[in-house]
Amino acid sequence: MKYVLALLADWANGIFAVLIASAITGTEVLWWHYVIGIALSHGPDIDAIPELWRRGKVAASAENPHDHRDGLHYPLLLVPVLFVFPMWFGYFGWVLWCAVVLHFVNDMYGTGWGLKLGWPFSSRSYKFLCRRVNRSKGQLQSEGLWQTLPESERKLRILVSWSATELPDYQRRWGMEQWIDVCYLRFNWISAVEYSLFIAAVVLATLSLLQ
Ligand SMILES: [Zn+2]
Repeated sequence: MKYVLALLADWANGIFAVLIASAITGTEVLWWHYVIGIALSHGPDIDAIPELWRRGKVAASAENPHDHRDGLHYPLLLVPVLFVFPMWFGYFGWVLWCAVVLHFVNDMYGTGWGLKLGWPFSSRSYKFLCRRVNRSKGQLQSEGLWQTLPESERKLRILVSWSATELPDYQRRWGMEQWIDVCYLRFNWISAVEYSLFIAAVVLATLSLLQ
């Protein structure tokens, strides 16, 4: 059941994608449009299915120092390429495009190890509002690790990045198998933002259907 908590941000993304597409094209929203939007907002994470099938879970950690975001998580490539869908299919093309863009935005600040923003020209991964160890100060303090960190690793940065060779090392040392418990069953700014976005999306979706 707790795994659902990690999906709420994408459910919000799917709902927002429908509302934005509706505003752009002037299309009246029907309830089942939200079902399609929510399904499409998970689209990029299809690249996690092989790991889910193999390990029964998805996590970059010492056990598996690899991020699934190596298949369908390339914004520089996919955002322009997927723009053919709004051109070809209008409203539902916009739903798809907006859902994927919002998914990428969420992956840039939420859980996980960011995105390879510049692929295919660069394999460097980037993430907003983060430490390179990818853990919150509260978590590091509770584990007694804060004092052991050099000053450069303690610093919360607007944008952090890892090269393709150093990312597996960081994931081995700092990745968590139990990231859902740590990130979604406790209060922190990421869970607060994602839960708030979900509540706002449900309210807006309800209002749009009552009009
Ligand atoms: Zn993703």
